[in-house]
Amino acid sequence: MVLKPFCPRLRPELRLHPQQRWLRDPLTRLELALDPGSLAVVQALDGTRGPAELAQQAGLSRGAVETVLRRLLLLHLLEGAGQETVETLRALQAGNHELPFSVLREGRFACQGSGACCRSYGRCELDDDDLATISSLDLGSALPELAGTPWFEALPTSGGVRKFLASRNGVCVFLLESGLCGLHAAFGEAVKPKVCRLYPYTVLHTVIGVKVYDQGECARFATSSRSGPPVSEELERIQELVGPTRTLYHPVVRAGSQLHFDFGIFLRLQKELVGRIARAPLTAVACLLQAARLQRSLFDALAGCPLQVGQPEKLVQTVLAADCPAVAPTKAALAAGAQACAGLCDQLREVLHSSLHDPETPLRRGMRAQIEGSLEVLAALGQRATSKAADALLSGPELPSGPKLPSGPELDALFRISFRQTLFGDFAMVQERPRAGLLRLALGFLLSLQAMAGRSTDPLQHFDAGHSLALRVLRRHELDGVFVAFEEHVWDVFEALPELVA
Ligand code: SF4
Repeated sequence: MVLKPFCPRLRPELRLHPQQRWLRDPLTRLELALDPGSLAVVQALDGTRGPAELAQQAGLSRGAVETVLRRLLLLHLLEGAGQETVETLRALQAGNHELPFSVLREGRFACQGSGACCRSYGRCELDDDDLATISSLDLGSALPELAGTPWFEALPTSGGVRKFLASRNGVCVFLLESGLCGLHAAFGEAVKPKVCRLYPYTVLHTVIGVKVYDQGECARFATSSRSGPPVSEELERIQELVGPTRTLYHPVVRAGSQLHFDFGIFLRLQKELVGRIARAPLTAVACLLQAARLQRSLFDALAGCPLQVGQPEKLVQTVLAADCPAVAPTKAALAAGAQACAGLCDQLREVLHSSLHDPETPLRRGMRAQIEGSLEVLAALGQRATSKAADALLSGPELPSGPKLPSGPELDALFRISFRQTLFGDFAMVQERPRAGLLRLALGFLLSLQAMAGRSTDPLQHFDAGHSLALRVLRRHELDGVFVAFEEHVWDVFEALPELVA
C-alpha cells in the first residue's frame, strides 16, 4: 500500500497570531505558545510541503521540524489528526450534538448512614435552588437544636462571594447525633443540597460522553459500592441534579516535559485501562502493574509518533491492542522505586503536617482526624519502603519492615472496583498529568494496605477505614505538587510494588 505523502496543514478553525506568537484552538480553548522556530514551521504549513521542504522553508534542521510537527499532530492541531474527537468538538460547539452518559457497568451505590461524608468534606457549595429550598423550610420547629445557628456561610473566593453549608464543631450543622442528615430526616431527601444528593457520584463532561462515577471516598465503600441501584438506573435523577449546561473537560494531557497530547487520546487509554481490569480479574498489584505498563508503552510510542497521514490514531490503536510484557526489574531499579516511595511519603507528611497548622484553611473535625491518622500510616509506609530499598541492594538478612501487608481475593476484588472508578474519571490525573495520577493511585493502594496492616486477622474489617483515609487525604490539593515532583519516578515505584507489598 502506498502511503499518501505527509504534507500537513493546520485545522481551518485555528487562529495564528504571528506577532504574539501563539496559536489558538477555539474548539478546546488551547493557546499554544510558539518559539520563533515553531512559528516559522507553522507559517509554512500550507498542505503542499512535507518535513524536508518545511525544514528548507523555515531554515531549520529536519529533526527540529519533525519535533514541531509531532507536537502539533499529538495536539490534534493538524488537519486529519484526531478526526473523531475534532468532529465531536465541532458538533458540540455548533450545538448539534448531545453527549450520551458514560458509566461503568458495575457502578452502584447505597448509603450506609455512617455520616462520615458530612464530617470530613472540604466545603459543600449551595446554589440558588438549594438556598431557596432550605430557606422555605420551618427549620426552627423541625430542628430546634439549630436555634440561632446560621446554616450557611458566605465566603469570598476567586470567583466572587459564594455560599456554603455551615459547620458546627467541625461537622455539618444539619448532621444529627445518630449520623443521619437532619434535613433528610425531617423533610425528606429532596430538600438536601444538590451536592449531597449527588454524592458519592461526580460528573465529568467529555467528548465521548458525560462520565458519571463514584469518587470512591465513602467510609463504607466495601458495602456501599456493591449495594443499591446500578448507576445506569440513576441517570435521570443525576441529570436533573447536574443540569443541562456544564463545561466540557478537554485539557492538554502532560505526560512529561516534552510530551503533551490531546485529551481524546487519553480517553481512549482510560477506556482500555478500565476494560482490561474488568476483562481479566487479576490481583490488585497485577492490575496496577498492567495499567502502568500500558500507559508507559503508549507514552513511549507517542514520543516517537511517525509523521504520517492517519496518525496518531493508528499508533494509539496498535499500542492499546497489544500486550505489555513484564520485564523483571534489576535490583538497582527495585531499590530506586522503594527509595522514591520512601521520599514521597516523607514529602507528603511534611505538607500534611503544615496543613494541620495552617490558620488560613481551618480543617473540619473529620478531615483533621484523617490527616493525623495518615501521618502515622505514611511514616510506617516510608519506613517499610526504606527497609525494602536496603533489602534490594544488600544480600544480608532482611531488615524489619513492619507487619505483613494484607492480601487476598476479596481485597483484590474491592481494589479492582476502586481502581476502575479512579482510572475512569478525572482522578486518573493530577493537574492533567497521568504519571502523577498513577503515582497517587499506587500510593493510595499502599497506604490503604498499610492502614490495615496488623490490625486484625480479617483485613476486610479495616478495608473501609484504610481506603477512605487514603483516598480522602491523598486527593487534597496541597499534595498535588508533591505527586508532580515525584512523577519521574513513577515507573520505578510501580515495578517495586510487588516487593513493597511482599
Ligand atoms: S446537609 Fe445533610 S447530607 Fe448534606 S452534609 Fe449536611 S448532614 Fe450531610
